[in-house]
Amino acid sequence: MLKLTFLGTSAGVPTKQRNVTALAIECLNPHTFGVQQGGRQQNTQSKKSRPWVLIDCGEGTQQQLLHTKLSLHQLAAICITHVHGDHCYGLPGLLASAAMSGRREPLTLIAPKAIATLLDAITLTTELYLPFVVNFVTIEEVLAEQGATNKVSISLSDQHQLDIDITLLSHRVASHGFGITQTISRRLLNTDKLVADGIPASALWGKLQQGEDVTTEDNRQLHSADYVDDEVQRTRVVIAGDNDTPNCLSKAVVDADLLVHEATYTHEVLTKIRAKNPDYDPMHSSAQLLGEFAQAAGLKNLILTHFSARYQGFDNPNSKTPNMAYIRLDAESVYQGNLWLAADFDQYVVDGAAESVSDQEGSQKDSQEENRVQYIGSARSN
Ligand SMILES: [Zn+2]
Ligand SMILES: [Zn+2]
Repeated sequence: MLKLTFLGTSAGVPTKQRNVTALAIECLNPHTFGVQQGGRQQNTQSKKSRPWVLIDCGEGTQQQLLHTKLSLHQLAAICITHVHGDHCYGLPGLLASAAMSGRREPLTLIAPKAIATLLDAITLTTELYLPFVVNFVTIEEVLAEQGATNKVSISLSDQHQLDIDITLLSHRVASHGFGITQTISRRLLNTDKLVADGIPASALWGKLQQGEDVTTEDNRQLHSADYVDDEVQRTRVVIAGDNDTPNCLSKAVVDADLLVHEATYTHEVLTKIRAKNPDYDPMHSSAQLLGEFAQAAGLKNLILTHFSARYQGFDNPNSKTPNMAYIRLDAESVYQGNLWLAADFDQYVVDGAAESVSDQEGSQKDSQEENRVQYIGSARSN
């Protein structure tokens, strides 16, 4: 179960309503402390066990974080899609604040090589000292590894793992998409079978569940494998950086529960910009391009973000002022799946085990902004 909080949804420059790009992904393990109540997840997982990943870090991201309950101490990894400033200028400040707030745990940073150069320069010129280890994973090196799956694995606990794979996209500079796959495994004890076999509840049950073979008081050998079923829950989201060719992601989105992608303009505006200055292609996608791609790929859930400042935040197709309805209709003209246009502080819970989208507006308010939480179920047919 992954919980997305949009920290910035504007393209290029911030606006009064939208900061530049950043997205927090919390890795929730509902089995740690969770309680199911009437099918709704009562998440009581302790804050300490809610590690999160930051995708991109535009300027002001640390300020946006102050409006959420996310802590820099729980930040497990930062992934930077590309070197454009609206995706990375917030990184040095965020790292410096993590240091000042007493963070000592190592941090994984997955980014283009140039980001290491940027950080080195700032560290040197501003005498920045980070009292924690930054495990820098260079995207170029991951992509160049022969025969590898372009994957970085992060173990969050012995039964909770995150795999981050990388896809090269098409933009003015090398830009990338991150496939985030969360795997939660659980050993389920078949208590019905134990009772049927005349083995009453005792400490032996716990040992069997832990994978130990045991001997009962009446000398019976019990094999853990006979009484334990392994359950694996997988949730996958794909978060793309700036990109003018959504088809680059065709492999990455197979089996994905959700795609988050930029839609900087409508198709009409994108075409006009290209026609006006043939020497300068912004190399962004239109909402329609994304709609076409998502429809052809059979994607059930799509969130668009990274909107040009020309679009106001309201949704009114009849208004002469460009607004979210323009973007929405551009995508909806070709896409029949579930579509959302992200706003700052919007939250989405993606549950690979759930079956469908459900709107439980306001049932969980983690943000002081009180934006809605949208629940997104599995896109897979099983
Ligand atoms: Zn951008
Ligand atoms: Zn860019």
